[in-house]
Amino acid sequence: MSLLLGPMHHHIPGHKDLSEHGEILEVKAGKQVFIPLYASHSTKFDILVKEGDHVCVGTLLAKCSDRMVIPIYSSVSGTVTGISKIMHMTLKPVDHIVIENDGKMETKPPFHPLDYQKASREELIAFMKDAGMIGLGGAGFPTYMKYQGNQEVKKLIINAVECEPYITDDLKLVEQHFDLALTGILAMKKMAQAQEAVIAIKKSHSSHLQLVETAVANINGVSVVSVPDVYPMGWERVLVRQIMKKEYNRLPIEAGAIVNNVTTAYAFANALVNGMPFVKRTVTISGNAIKNPQNVSCPLGVPASELIEACGGYTYDDVKLIAGGPMMGKTIVNDKFVVDRHMNAITVLANRPYDSVACLRCGQCCDVCPAGLQPVRIAQAGKIKDKAMMEKLHALDCVECGLCTYICPSRLDVTENVRKAKRQLTLAKK
Ligand code: SF4
Ligand code: SF4
Repeated sequence: MSLLLGPMHHHIPGHKDLSEHGEILEVKAGKQVFIPLYASHSTKFDILVKEGDHVCVGTLLAKCSDRMVIPIYSSVSGTVTGISKIMHMTLKPVDHIVIENDGKMETKPPFHPLDYQKASREELIAFMKDAGMIGLGGAGFPTYMKYQGNQEVKKLIINAVECEPYITDDLKLVEQHFDLALTGILAMKKMAQAQEAVIAIKKSHSSHLQLVETAVANINGVSVVSVPDVYPMGWERVLVRQIMKKEYNRLPIEAGAIVNNVTTAYAFANALVNGMPFVKRTVTISGNAIKNPQNVSCPLGVPASELIEACGGYTYDDVKLIAGGPMMGKTIVNDKFVVDRHMNAITVLANRPYDSVACLRCGQCCDVCPAGLQPVRIAQAGKIKDKAMMEKLHALDCVECGLCTYICPSRLDVTENVRKAKRQLTLAKK
């Protein structure tokens, strides 16, 4: 951490108005869907179906069970036609199960609904594990892992901050489905044995604050907290710092908190109430190079190209396509990648190349870094391959929030240089 810390965050224009209007557009799957065999910690899956098998919405297709359990379910009904290696939204080539969609959306819920009020804490955790719940705010970490210890939880923090520019799918969910999300929040509060649950929403989203305040007004131990409109307010370390005035080393639980995204709470409630795993999600399609920016809802495994077409297509010949938001998303070369569980947005920007100049040593990247790092020094250490210095500067603590690149007046891609330094350190540790 820097000795002299700056604000460790920054206000950036949200561009939320582009996509927050109107209803969520329902997009049906096309002829084929491609279900990614991807988990944040592994790509080793046991595949439970074979070519020619008929599947329904909700059929268990594969299971990863090395270190953490992640089941993968079908999002459409149809016939399995094989496995295909495709570029994933994480920029890795990943096996995908290909399903020929029969268009019938024949559905078989894979588990029985569970009443969270009657179920024990252990039953709820086992249910969450079987349902394949992962963090849907972007990280994709198996959610049950956060709840299974016997730790003291002071606060369950429900993250509805959505601090990345352009993205509004959490806001839409709060607007349209908060009643169901609330069931998930109450079930999670029971699982965490938390003293209270707080739902964090940005101060600038006054109508959403009001809606949620009204919904929880008569519920004991559940409240709403408004947080400043700065980036990266939605990163759990910043949220815990803001709400609990505490720092932690590795995990929020060290500060007495569990943090989960509001969409995760909604998906968990859908599993509890309807017996359905997470096979469909809302994705924000936005940016200055897409004709009709908006939120769309589609089965998992639908190619990005079909969503872009549903939103009227590109408005520039040369676009920068990002899986995710412009700060933390991955720039991707084409629109063949598909919607996975933790993909909340596709951002399409006009590609405007720019020239960078030498570092001015202004220190702004250090002032804003939410992890309290010195990005400019990490980048320099990376360039000369000084691993001891990278280690000393805690390069691996970088969460790749993108703020150092955003703030840099020299227009240097500081985040990418820090990322390269991290890669060197990680490889050296293997
Ligand atoms: S990308 Fe990493 S180094 Fe840069 S501001 Fe974010 S956390 Fe800090
Ligand atoms: S913000 Fe850019 S110009 Fe300023 S110190 Fe960091 S890298 Fe150098």
